[in-house]
Formats: sequence, C-alpha cells, structure tokens
Amino acid sequence: MSQLKQRIMKIRKQLDELGLMLPGGISEQWYTCSKKGCRCMDAKNPSKHGPYHQLSYRIAGKSSTMIVKRKDLAEARKLIKNYGRFKELNKELLTAHVALVRGEGFQQDEFLSK
Ligand SMILES: [Zn+2]
Repeated sequence: MSQLKQRIMKIRKQLDELGLMLPGGISEQWYTCSKKGCRCMDAKNPSKHGPYHQLSYRIAGKSSTMIVKRKDLAEARKLIKNYGRFKELNKELLTAHVALVRGEGFQQDEFLSK
C-alpha cells in the first residue's frame, strides 16, 4: 500500500477514535433576576447573578446556546477541543484524498473498504 493510502487509513482511524464533540465556545454570563429588592437590582451598586456558563454554537447556519453546569465545564471544554481536532483531521484527510487522486488517479476506492 502506498504511503498516501497508509496516511489516509491512519487519519480515518484517528477520526474513528475521536469520541464525542461539541461545536462553539463557552462564555460567562451574568444576569439580573428582576426580583424586587434583590442585590442584582440595586440602583447604586448592583451585583448581578452568575457567572453561568453558556455554550454558543452554529450548525448549518442556525445559532443555538446551551447552559453548561459548572461540574461539566472541563468535559465540555474537552469536547470542544475534540471538534477542533475533528476539523483538523478532516482537512488532512481531504488533502490526502486530493493528493491520492492527483498522484495515483481515480478508482482508488477499493482499499478504503478493506
Ligand atoms: Zn437578582
């Protein structure tokens, strides 16, 4: 098997082993609860509630948010990193596919299904 094909198999294995992922980024949010007399509504020295952590992401042009509990923060950040790795590997895979077709021609599919 050519070096390029071996490289493709390696990237596919890495993609397969990636596990869960999340898109987007996490930001800290502070809010006012609107309860009369609450510290967050103080006219002179308001002390807002928070922070809570919000994941913001966009898939197929649609923006969404999701609250991440403090206890889940480390895991969420790991999954976001996984998505970064996923995008990186996809770029490498696509680059290798193009190089394969350019270098060895079309009809290179058989080795992928082995
Ligand atoms: Zn409040």
